[in-house]
Amino acid sequence: MSLEFQLPVRIDRDMADELVKESAYIARQISAFRVADDLQTVVVEIAETANPEEISGKVSRYLSAMLRGYPPPATRVCAAYQRTDAGPLADGVFDELKRRQWAFEIGVGHVGFAGPALTLYEYIDQYLGERYQELFGTRTISFPALITPGNLARCGYFDSHPNNATWVTHLVEDVDTIEQFRAANTDIRAPRLPKPEELETPAACLNPAACDPLYYVLENQTMPSEGVAYSWLGRVFRYESRNTRDLERLWEFNVRELVFAGSAAYVQRQREKAVQFMGELAQHFDLDMSLEVASDPFFATVAAVKRMWQLSMETKVEVKVPIGTDGDGRLRRIAAGSINLHGKFFGERFSIHAHGGASADTACVGLGIERLMLATFAQHGFEPERWPKPVRTHLFLSER
Ligand SMILES: [Zn+2]
Repeated sequence: MSLEFQLPVRIDRDMADELVKESAYIARQISAFRVADDLQTVVVEIAETANPEEISGKVSRYLSAMLRGYPPPATRVCAAYQRTDAGPLADGVFDELKRRQWAFEIGVGHVGFAGPALTLYEYIDQYLGERYQELFGTRTISFPALITPGNLARCGYFDSHPNNATWVTHLVEDVDTIEQFRAANTDIRAPRLPKPEELETPAACLNPAACDPLYYVLENQTMPSEGVAYSWLGRVFRYESRNTRDLERLWEFNVRELVFAGSAAYVQRQREKAVQFMGELAQHFDLDMSLEVASDPFFATVAAVKRMWQLSMETKVEVKVPIGTDGDGRLRRIAAGSINLHGKFFGERFSIHAHGGASADTACVGLGIERLMLATFAQHGFEPERWPKPVRTHLFLSER
């Protein structure tokens, strides 16, 4: 059965893409959601068993939340870099990586690497870690994959992206439940998953935002007058529902994170330096790249308000890279990372102070390793001659 909705205004293609993407979270009985070519009609396919009125209400509420304040303030391009490699963009990078056994899809949205892909993964992380140390005097630190729901709540995660959280649980501590589950799983060809009542209420999440655990570490501390910078490789988990897609949008991915904490002036200065550094990054990997003021895809109910705020305050700059073309020849681009100003949000929530006692400002820079890998392979293909020299010498030496 299909339902049709008229939008109050004609939207642009980016908004149409965002509506389709975030529609994954409206209702499980929706099998397809698309925006028609007139960019003003939404067509929703629902299961025969679904209640059309109930779904209709959910879709209407979703659309009005997402379109509140539309159109948002115009995005601004801060800088653009061009690669010197004149070769075409390679489509189907992930398939080719898998064919060569340089990438392995262990499950939906979680992948492993080997050979030159693994070398590139390690090279990107090492390059960023070393340059951050030279440029910002970073301290190193490491974090576990688990994070408490309490800390995520304080970081504002449940207030903005509750749909992306991944919850960790275990069988309830009950001998009969455990024994039944064990007995039901002796046939390894047909594993039986636990029923909801056999699982404990989750007491942990998998960390969905690389920098979040650091604020807990800095809680109640006063930053030195010169400010502090931390950098580490963070494992990040975001449940993306049906939007999970090869290396582009993974459930589990890795981020080279960089966080500044200190006075507003210090954080602002470091942020400018980080923006400048992206030009060096583009050159080092010879990438087409642009830096754009952007907003996050927040959960529908808060999307409009937070998007407006981020865009008008220019708090988020995205590192956009082309990764191929889609069916109708449109350039496909992804955000390989972002540079985010948080103001005193975390300083106040975690009582982190700048030298002198005021709440500290913070900012973070996150670069997704898998997305940078995808962009680099997409822009240089699989012939070593097309790769920039410093990267190439590391990469194709070692078909391990
Ligand atoms: Zn961050």
